[in-house]
Amino acid sequence: MKILKSFNMKEQSNMKVGGIAQEFIVVEKKDEIIEALELGNKNFILGNGTNTLLNDDKLNRTFISLKEINYIKELGNNTVEVGAGLDFDKLIEYMGEHNYSGLENLAGIPGTVGGLVFMNGGAYGTEIFDCITAVEIVDENNNIKNIKKEDLKFTYRRTEIQEKSWVVLSATFKFENGYQKDIVEDRMGKRQERHPLNMPNLGSTFKNPQGNFSAKLIIDAGMQGFTKGGAQVSTVHPNFIVNNGTATFQDILDLIREVKEKVKETSGIELEEEIIIVKD
Ligand SMILES: Cc1cc2nc3c(=O)[nH]c(=O)nc-3n(C[C@H](O)[C@H](O)[C@H](O)COP(=O)(O)OP(=O)(O)OC[C@H]3O[C@@H](n4cnc5c(N)ncnc54)[C@H](O)[C@@H]3O)c2cc1C
Repeated sequence: MKILKSFNMKEQSNMKVGGIAQEFIVVEKKDEIIEALELGNKNFILGNGTNTLLNDDKLNRTFISLKEINYIKELGNNTVEVGAGLDFDKLIEYMGEHNYSGLENLAGIPGTVGGLVFMNGGAYGTEIFDCITAVEIVDENNNIKNIKKEDLKFTYRRTEIQEKSWVVLSATFKFENGYQKDIVEDRMGKRQERHPLNMPNLGSTFKNPQGNFSAKLIIDAGMQGFTKGGAQVSTVHPNFIVNNGTATFQDILDLIREVKEKVKETSGIELEEEIIIVKD
């Protein structure tokens, strides 16, 4: 494993905001994870940083990357075990090569498999857990466990893994036959059209409240396009916050607070952040 001290985290978050971390550990083999967790201080597991907002001040903690744990292992019978660090796009590519079906709706989500499993990510009515049969995790006592899907609690954008701060090492997926290339192309095209992909962002800032859409509530509150310093509620997709190049951590926090206040005022609804915010 590689241990990098005083590591600049700016490029590790897709928002391109981040300060200097005490330590950044890159785990190169799965069995190094326990040692890394024991070495680290206030550990934070980082995938592609596409859902994580980092403070741009000192980060007095250890970030652990599993990006090199990115294997795909065939288990037979349309079942594969996938390392947590694999880019989700690579899993979609693999599904195409093997004529597997089930997660096409998620094509274009820029995270890692571990990041998606952690929060049960999804799109267009499909969630990653739809195709999962088991997850290999490290629990709060640093024990490695393989947990069957039926023994794990998960709902919309929330899992027991997140609640208990477990580490995802791998996930086992079972697919149907018949890869749907047209769906993948359609979803990728829609993302190009509807997401501000030319600017740093973290995807949807807020979860959709039950029976409602955060984007609509933000438009109704008159907040689309609103700015705070270098941070802006995207004019392309109002549930995205974009960095115009000069946004600070504080700009983004202020903008989030103001959007929540205005939405509460106009609709009575309390928005809840989908993004993960690392304050120190
Ligand atoms: C343009 C854009 C579009 C997006 N569209 C969608 C979408 O349609 N649907 C959707 O659900 N999300 C979407 N997202 C958000 C994001 O891509 C997902 O949440 C993704 O799952 C995050 O993965 P990541 O590897 O980048 O996680 P990170 O941002 O690195 O981490 C996010 C959280 O997961 C935890 N984590 C990461 N890996 C592990 C692990 N191995 N074990 C334990 N915890 C871990 C981190 O500690 C952190 O708390 C989008 C983001 C962007 C920028």
